[in-house]
Amino acid sequence: MKNLVILGSTGSIGTQALEIVDAYSDRLQVSALAAGSNVDRMEEQVRKYLPGFAVMYEEKAAGDLAVRVADLPVTVLAGMEGLQQIVSLPEADVVLTAVVGMIGIKPTIEAIKAGKDIALANKETLVTAGHIIMPLAKEKGVSILPVDSEHSAIFQSLNGEPEKRMKKILLTASGGPFRGMKREELLYKTVKEALNHPNWSMGKKITIDSATMVNKGLEVMEAGWLFHAKPEQIQVVVHPQSIIHSMVEYMDGAVMAQLGLPDMKLPIQYALFYPDRLPMEMPGIDFFKLGQITFEEPDMETFTGLKLAYEAFKAGGSMPTVFNAANEKAVSMFLAGKIRFLDIADIIGKAMDAHGVIENPSLEQILETESWCYEFIESRC
Ligand code: NDP
Ligand code: MG
Repeated sequence: MKNLVILGSTGSIGTQALEIVDAYSDRLQVSALAAGSNVDRMEEQVRKYLPGFAVMYEEKAAGDLAVRVADLPVTVLAGMEGLQQIVSLPEADVVLTAVVGMIGIKPTIEAIKAGKDIALANKETLVTAGHIIMPLAKEKGVSILPVDSEHSAIFQSLNGEPEKRMKKILLTASGGPFRGMKREELLYKTVKEALNHPNWSMGKKITIDSATMVNKGLEVMEAGWLFHAKPEQIQVVVHPQSIIHSMVEYMDGAVMAQLGLPDMKLPIQYALFYPDRLPMEMPGIDFFKLGQITFEEPDMETFTGLKLAYEAFKAGGSMPTVFNAANEKAVSMFLAGKIRFLDIADIIGKAMDAHGVIENPSLEQILETESWCYEFIESRC
């Protein structure tokens, strides 16, 4: 029996992970669940999975939950302290990090320190603190198992081969809802249009990131940390059908790819049971119906967020934190109707221009950079 802690259990990844727990209740059980403020969904989950602990990040939500589940043997905790406490529970084997944003950094570090394997969906954590997390995981003998579909595909394509034989990573991208459009066409795109992803159903923040292609930029950096690849070894390939989830080109020119329908359950399940591969109730690809799959070069002049991500990756140090924090802030402003679609990448660019890189930033410096970035955007953009 594997004991799971799920950070972000009420979200898109979290709820799909719990569907895998339903399918494999003989192998998986839930030790703790955590979310931000969605008390209704958390109450349902606590009643169904009976975890020993439940955390609501927001104090008031935690208070509400405690009253609602007072009839159950569950300890309700709040805030960052609660998150840090549940990731180090002695009975926990794997921590699934499926919160959205840099809020995941501290609990992920705490989980690694406690020797827990990490099933990592929360890419923002690796982008901003990869230089702390990867060596710490190595020191503690902890596995970082990718949940992001592209990184799971790379991980599966590397199965059994040493990384040093890898020449490059071909990171596939659907291109999002605005693929093929130019800047003039993107000027007045609404939140509703940006949330209308052609292939994937996901949380709001990552869906906007997919429309700007910032998501692909974050994934380039995520791949860099997970597979020890340099920026020039990672090539983004637009593949609108989202059937090839990513590929690895080896030193002899052989290319390995992982294919599947666009459904996050497969990469989540693969991470939870690795190195096992277990059956899954899902239709396979019908290649005759599919007919063809196509590829395009990414348009970095329109989707400047992707170009900026490569620049942040090359600059290193605290620059990926600025890229990520500026994006988190800009996306929340866009979702609130305060800025326009193209402003998101423009704001990231302005914040990066104004920042002096700190080499090898400590956790404290990463969080200070995040605060600096938020203040900069509030006062200057
Ligand atoms: P959602 O917005 O659907 O869910 C986010 C989850 O995080 C919710 O459970 C939310 O709780 C919780 N949360 C938010 N803030 C806090 C907080 N301060 N403390 C604790 N929990 C918090 O996001 P997704 O599931 O789409 O994405 C999660 C992560 O996975 C992101 O990093 C994303 O980039 C990555 N990812 C997602 C994919 C997808 O298909 N969705 C694919 C690949 C990667 P509440 O409901 O209470 O707000
Ligand atoms: Mg992805």
